[in-house]
Amino acid sequence: MIHIKENLCDFCGTCVAVCPADCIEVREASISIEDESCIDCDLCVEICPIEVLVGDNEN
Ligand code: SF4
Ligand code: SF4
Repeated sequence: MIHIKENLCDFCGTCVAVCPADCIEVREASISIEDESCIDCDLCVEICPIEVLVGDNEN
């Protein structure tokens, strides 16, 4: 499961493009992740330029 520090996000959409499960949704000023579909690959965590996303392994 991915935790989102939404107050830091600039909604650039970069994470959406890399998600193999297509479970990240970014709108004008919101981001959400469908936990049931997430496969915990952490690609989004690695690609986010400002470390908005945190995987369970990094707590
Ligand atoms: S890559 Fe990071 S800053 Fe960009 S939309 Fe995703 S979480 Fe937000
Ligand atoms: S961990 Fe992988 S599957 Fe889950 S939201 Fe991030 S990119 Fe998508």
